[in-house]
Amino acid sequence: KNRRVPVTSRNDELGELAWMFNEMIDRTQRYIDQQSQFVGDVSHELRTPVAIIQGHMQLLERWGKDDPKQLEESIQAALAETNRMNTLIKEMLDLTRAGQVEVNFRNATTPVKKLVNQVYDNFRMIHPDFHFSLDDDLDEDVLVPVYRDHLEQILIILCDNAVKYSNERKEIHLSLSRNLRAVEIGVQDFGEGISQEDLHRVFDRFYRVDKARSRKKGGNGLGLAIAKRLVEGYHGTVTVESQLGSGSLFRITLPIVEPGDEKEAKNKESGK
Ligand code: ADP
Repeated sequence: KNRRVPVTSRNDELGELAWMFNEMIDRTQRYIDQQSQFVGDVSHELRTPVAIIQGHMQLLERWGKDDPKQLEESIQAALAETNRMNTLIKEMLDLTRAGQVEVNFRNATTPVKKLVNQVYDNFRMIHPDFHFSLDDDLDEDVLVPVYRDHLEQILIILCDNAVKYSNERKEIHLSLSRNLRAVEIGVQDFGEGISQEDLHRVFDRFYRVDKARSRKKGGNGLGLAIAKRLVEGYHGTVTVESQLGSGSLFRITLPIVEPGDEKEAKNKESGK
C-alpha cells in the first residue's frame, strides 16, 4: 500500500510538510521490511536444528530406544543442535543490543593498546598451533570511546574468523596504529580469502560464503554483522580487503578520546 502523499513542489510550507511526511513513511516502511526480513531469516535458521532434533526423536520413538548406539548418537546430535540454537539466540540478542550502544554506553572508554595486547596474548595461548604476530605502533596507550567488553567482542569475532578460515597457513597478523584522531586495528590472515562477489555481503547478517562449511565450524553468519553494528554504533568503521586463496585483512578504525573530552564526559555523568 502506498501511503505517500503527492508532492508538487517543496517550495512552500505545505509542500515541505508533505515531503517530510513521505520521508517518514518511507523510513517506517524500510524499518518494517527489515524487521520482517529478520524474522524470516531467524525462522529459517532455526528450521535446520529443530528438524534434526525432531528426526532423532522420531527415530528413537519408533525403534531406537533399545539400541544403545542409536540412543547415544541421538543424544549427542540433540545436544549439539541445542547448543547451536543457544549460540544463535545469544548472537541475535547481541546483534539487537549492538544497535543500542550509542544510547547505553555513551561514557565508556577503553585503553586500546592494553586491550589489543590482552586479546593477542589470549589468542596465542588458546591456539598454540598458530603463529600470531602483533605490530603495535603506539608508544603510549590511548582511550577509545568504546565499552571494553564490546571492543573485546569485536576483536574476538575478527580473530576467531581469522583462525577459522586460515586453512593450512596458520598465521595471523595483528596491527595497531594511530593518527591524530583515530586508531586503526588490523586483523590479517593468509587463508582461504573471500571472492570479490562475496566481499560486500560478508557483513550481512546470516551471510556465509559456504553455508555447510561454516555450519560445521559452528558459524551462524552473525559475527561480522555484530562487529559492524558495534563499530558503527561507536562512530568507527570496519572494512575488509581480500583475495581468494591468499587471505583477508579486516581493519577497524575508532575515534580517539581527547583528554578534555573525557573529563567532560565524567562531569556530565556525575552531574557537575
Ligand atoms: P560465521 O559465523 O559464518 O563465521 P561471520 O559473520 O563471522 O559468520 O562471517 C560471515 C562469512 O564471511 C563467513 O561464513 C565466511 O564465509 C566469511 N569470512 C569471515 N571472515 C573470514 C576470513 N577471515 N576469511 C575468509 N572468509 C571469512
